[in-house]
Parts: sequence; C-alpha cells; structure tokens
Amino acid sequence: MTDTYKAILIIGDGLGDRPIAELGGKTPLEAANKPNTDRLAAEGECGLMDPIAPGVRAGSDTSHLAILGYDPYKYYTGRGPFEAAGIGMDVKRGDISFRCNFSTVDDSMMIIDRRAGRITEGTSQLAAAVNNMQIGDVTAIFKESVAHRGALVLRGPGLGALVSDTDPHEEGAPVHKCAPLDPNDAAAAKTANAVNEFVKRSYEILKSHPVNIARKEKGLNPANIILPRGAGLAPDLRKFDDLNEVTSACVAETGLIKGVAKYVGMNIVDVPGANGGLDSDVTAIGRAILDSLKSHSFILCNVKGGDVAGHDNQPKAKVAMIERMDQMIGLLLDIVGTDTYIILTADHSTPCAVMDHSGDPVPIAFWGPGVRTDNCKSFGERPVLGGGIGRIRGTDIMKIITNLMGVQEKFGA
Ligand code: ZN
Ligand code: ZN
Repeated sequence: MTDTYKAILIIGDGLGDRPIAELGGKTPLEAANKPNTDRLAAEGECGLMDPIAPGVRAGSDTSHLAILGYDPYKYYTGRGPFEAAGIGMDVKRGDISFRCNFSTVDDSMMIIDRRAGRITEGTSQLAAAVNNMQIGDVTAIFKESVAHRGALVLRGPGLGALVSDTDPHEEGAPVHKCAPLDPNDAAAAKTANAVNEFVKRSYEILKSHPVNIARKEKGLNPANIILPRGAGLAPDLRKFDDLNEVTSACVAETGLIKGVAKYVGMNIVDVPGANGGLDSDVTAIGRAILDSLKSHSFILCNVKGGDVAGHDNQPKAKVAMIERMDQMIGLLLDIVGTDTYIILTADHSTPCAVMDHSGDPVPIAFWGPGVRTDNCKSFGERPVLGGGIGRIRGTDIMKIITNLMGVQEKFGA
C-alpha cells in the first residue's frame, strides 16, 4: 500500500436533532458529555452538512450514497439493489432487485399476516425451496434476510424496473398483481410477468413446505407466500477506490449501509456484537476500525443506535448512545497516528420529536494534520455554526477528505 495518509469517516446514524425541553432546550449532541468528540471539534474544522440538499429528508441509503460522492438523484434506483447487496447477494448490472416479505395468505390470496407471524426460524429452508427459479429466460434468485424479510433478484435479458408492488401494505386485502407503470413499457411488462409467476409459484411451493406444516401445528401463521416490492435496476457505479485513490473498508451494523458500501466496492468488515441497537458493542467497532486501518487507507463507519433512539423518541437514550460513541472516538484518538484524519458527521437528523428523519442539517468536523482549526469548541448542531467549513452538502465530503489526504487529482493545469 502506497497511501501516505489515512482517513476514518464516522457516521452517527440519525445523530442530528432539534432542541428538546427534557434536555433543557439542548439537542442530544449538545447535552451529551463527550470530551473526545468535542476534542475533534475543538482541534478540527467544523460546519454544517446537508446530506442531500437543504431541507431534503434523506434516507440512510441515499445519504450514504451522497456522502460517498454519488449523486443519489442520478444513481439511486430504489432500495432493492442495496438491500440485496447488503445481505450478501451478488447483484449484477441489469438485474432487477426487490425487497420482499414472507407473508401469510389464504387460498383466495387474501393477506392474513403481512409478516407471517414475524417468523424468525426456518426462513433459510423456505428460501432454498424457491431460490434459482427459472421463469422463461429469467432466473429468480431469492435470499432470506432477518425475520420475515428477504430480497429477490431477477436476472435475464430485457428486464425493466418500473413496476408496481405486490404487497398491498394491509391485512385483509388481496395480493396485488405486479404491473408495468407504463403499459407500453415492454421491459417492465416482462419483469411484471416474472414477478407474478414467482409470487404464484412461491405460494404453491411454500404452502405445503415442512417448515410451514410445523408452524401450523404450533398455531403460528405459515410463511406461505413471498411478496416483492421496491423494484430497482442495479445502478452502474464506479468503484469508490478508483474514484478516490484509496483502499477502503466499511465497518457498519445494518444490511442497508453494508449494501451501499458493498455496491461501491468497499471491503465489508463484520463486527461480532455490533448489533445496530442501543446496546451495540461500540468498543468492538472501534477495534475493528483500527484493525482495518492496517490494510486500508479509508474506513467508513456507521453506528446505528442514535437513529434508533430518535425513531423511538428517547432523548436520554440518544444522549447515552452519543456518550458511548464518544468512548469509541476516545479509543481511536488514543491510537491513530499523525497520519490519520477523523471526520465525524451524521447521515441525517432523526429528531426525537419527529420520530423519523428530517431535513435539518447535521454537524460535521474534520480533524487531522493540516486542517485549519477554527473557533468551534464542541460538536453539536449550534456549536459548529461559524466554523471554517461553513455549510456543505454530502457530495462535497469526499472531495474535502481526498484533498486533505493529498490523493486528489488536480482539476486543470
Ligand atoms: Zn440513517
Ligand atoms: Zn432512521
């Protein structure tokens, strides 16, 4: 490896918030006791970051695409491809990918339970029974994910992604037929036919599968059908390492983020104990970052817990998560050398009061050799105002990092 400088980009998922009365009018970031995080801000250069654009409510996937330098308006083709890549499926150019649910239907294709009793066991056997289904010249590849979830990849010539969902999103409703959004779109029509055939055959195969017979005997809803939704054409993205002249790895907790990272060619590092929850082993994440730095020059890290607390409207739990992340940052600061940059930000705000993602900007700090230290003393939504970075967008971040690392090609003479 010839890289001189290294960088760690830490994304606190959903870390941004709004002032909360319960916290004395502070945001969770402002209220938390986080000496290491504040040191990054005090010694670094700070500002605000709009993941996509001011006011735009970003998803975690679109935001990570933007932060990694890929314009989501150009490259985001639906959640399916990233979801499928995130559970380790090999998604190829031209494939159409879907998120899926195992569901329960009756003989007349009415939904009894969209999540098949939130099934947790036996889904790999059920998936194996429908995997690699041949539908004309289309191959349907299916893999289970966590609980009742899974992903479907359709591979074959002339497929289009502009099709409707089969999941009616409510119980008591019939399974929807997949249809092309535009009746004259032959590629979409071909996809829709394959999806409908897959759904039909999934019911025929799964209704009498031993896993489901055993479930019925226990009084549980059988996972007797698979319902695809969120069709997306696999986007053709340039490899992250080629674009940025780095060797990269991703240390993340959720399949969706790993999927985005895998999709752009990053090495994926799995961390035992990093469960994406509020009790996730953040120290293990920190150690995995340090370990990966030995063989990579760029590490993307996503810690999920803050987003979970925001969705659940748990301000104190969010503060606690920020304080645990601070210990992880302390571990990094103790060990990284003077050749390493640490960049800290969030992928969007998940304000407790909103219980979902909002379009509020998030703080960002760049720390490491040569940065123009500014007057910001702590890391938070308001303490970074007036910092040297000003207000940037997600797609600006990699340019700033590769400039600091000295690996960016000059534009012009
Ligand atoms: Zn997120
Ligand atoms: Zn979220």
